[in-house]
Amino acid sequence: MSIIVQKFGGTSVATAERITAAAQRAVAAKRAGHQVVMVVSARGKKTDELVDLAAQITESPRAREMDMLLSTGEQESVALVAMAIHMLGEQAVSMTGGQIGIVTDSTFSKARIRSISTTAIQKQLDAGKIVVACGFQGVDDEGNITTLGRGGSDTTATALAAALRAEECEIYTDVEGVFSTDPRAVPEARKIQQISYDEMLELASVGAGVMHSRSIEFAKKFNVPLRVRPSFSDGVGTLIAAAGGDESRVVTGMALVKNEARVTLLDLPDRPGVMSTVFARMAAHKIPIDMVVQNVAVAGKAEVSFTVPSGDLAETLTAAEEAIKELGAGKIQSGTHVAKVSAVGNGMRTHSGVAAQMFQIIANLGANIEMITTSEIKISALVDRKLADETLKELHQGFHLEAPRASVPPVGVRQTGDGGWDTEAHDALLRDVVSRLSSMEDIVVSEVLLDDAQSRVTIHNLPDVPGTCAQLFTAVAEGDVMVDMIVQNVSHDGSAEVSFTVNRSDLDRCLLLTREVLEAWDGAQLTSERDIAKLTVVGIGLRTHTGVGEKMFRALAEANINIQMINTSEIRMSAVVQANQGPAGLQALQQTFGLQSDRA
Ligand code: ADP
Ligand code: ASP
Ligand code: MG
Repeated sequence: MSIIVQKFGGTSVATAERITAAAQRAVAAKRAGHQVVMVVSARGKKTDELVDLAAQITESPRAREMDMLLSTGEQESVALVAMAIHMLGEQAVSMTGGQIGIVTDSTFSKARIRSISTTAIQKQLDAGKIVVACGFQGVDDEGNITTLGRGGSDTTATALAAALRAEECEIYTDVEGVFSTDPRAVPEARKIQQISYDEMLELASVGAGVMHSRSIEFAKKFNVPLRVRPSFSDGVGTLIAAAGGDESRVVTGMALVKNEARVTLLDLPDRPGVMSTVFARMAAHKIPIDMVVQNVAVAGKAEVSFTVPSGDLAETLTAAEEAIKELGAGKIQSGTHVAKVSAVGNGMRTHSGVAAQMFQIIANLGANIEMITTSEIKISALVDRKLADETLKELHQGFHLEAPRASVPPVGVRQTGDGGWDTEAHDALLRDVVSRLSSMEDIVVSEVLLDDAQSRVTIHNLPDVPGTCAQLFTAVAEGDVMVDMIVQNVSHDGSAEVSFTVNRSDLDRCLLLTREVLEAWDGAQLTSERDIAKLTVVGIGLRTHTGVGEKMFRALAEANINIQMINTSEIRMSAVVQANQGPAGLQALQQTFGLQSDRA
């Protein structure tokens, strides 16, 4: 019998009426012939209330007790939902994370799922019951209650759907689906019919709060068809699947993170191993590093900047101090008044000029860009927090995301290739990849790539005023030069530095165009390197697993390879190195991540 997983977020079970409405959905699915697993969050603002309550007692609650406390919110919900189902004349059983068999590591408040035993659930389902499972929680090997991080019920639902091979995983929430940006921030935002795992992964990781980004990792890894639906209406919502929807659009969605802090480590030695040391320290403190920008060293001194959630700044500075001590040189700077705006879209793979357009819109607002990072399908820019909301609105309008979308033929969720279960492919995946994982949430690095067809262009001493990047990338885009990696960083003395990579065949044209723009900027200097190698690690959930960067940079350090530029995203991490070190770098990375060489 087919299994359906239905997840209900906090607002969808906030009151007795809504609890009954949620129960009705499950009962309807059951009566339509499915086995039904519900995953339920804490009611309304319950989790926030519990966090506040703890804060009234202590500033630094022990993590274990915090998880014990927060997990009660979900426990209340599941019992009530089960009662509501009983009232509707169906059998139901409520279960905690431990009772379901969700085993996690012991990282309280952000535990990762190690394994799920489906025996207990399956037994209840086979007995004709609707299983009502607590979202957001599990137990560690010692039997301690753990939680998966705020918003983690999405991850419970997707993980259960994967483990049970559910036919569909429905995420019921308080909006019509996934929108082009948060509809609360931009009322003109539009609902997206279908979006690819990669786009959703990037969007969730750059701040689209509608889905817990780790849930999309599961969905992609195990090919779970996910549908985000409204709980208050019969809307069909948004399908998150292997393929995206409206391919005619360059930008699919946008997101904003307001509480970012920026940390710069400067005057670092420019030698192999420096990045590895910095990342190892951050990983040891479990700091979720966000935008990372490392640009070409000047005068033998390297510099790296990154952002972290403001709440992690103090811990980050401690880790940074340790790194500098270990390296024997360096200084730390930080700033807190920044916000990150990001644009995501599959179309960026093939369209030039997206960056230019984005920077121009930001420049028109008089906003200065402090940092830029890109991935194949994402551009992020760091701007002054005061201008953040306006920037998001203007970008949304500038890319016409409020316009109606090309209609996409409805995609059956059970079709192979569209995100539905293809049993054979799923079995193969389980055998080949997942069986190698000791835990369900382990990192999956699927590929290591070497691109030796690119060149690097760097502009030093860029005037640190609004509009420079817009001017630069507009000029380059007008020459139809496709820009790949962009990293930009405002340095300590108020001047900015930007590097980007282009196809080698475009380099001369690009330099010509760049020189023209540069004439207007006093002191700006252009350097370039015709032959570079770009090494990329491709996978799922790379940035949220702090260990990937560390592993990548350690492997390169051990091979004595110096890193010139870094770029990271949820699905890719790239490093630019000297051209002649490309093959050795490729080999080192393949070895580190246990992948075979295709070139042998
Ligand atoms: P739940 O409690 O159901 O898990 P969340 O609050 O976690 O709900 O997620 C739904 C909220 O996400 C919406 O109310 C909306 O404000 C916010 N949101 C942020 N970005 C987006 C987006 N791109 N599309 C839809 N909703 C978004
Ligand atoms: N109740 C938890 C939270 O508020 C988990 C969730 O809702 O997904 O973060
Ligand atoms: Mg949520």
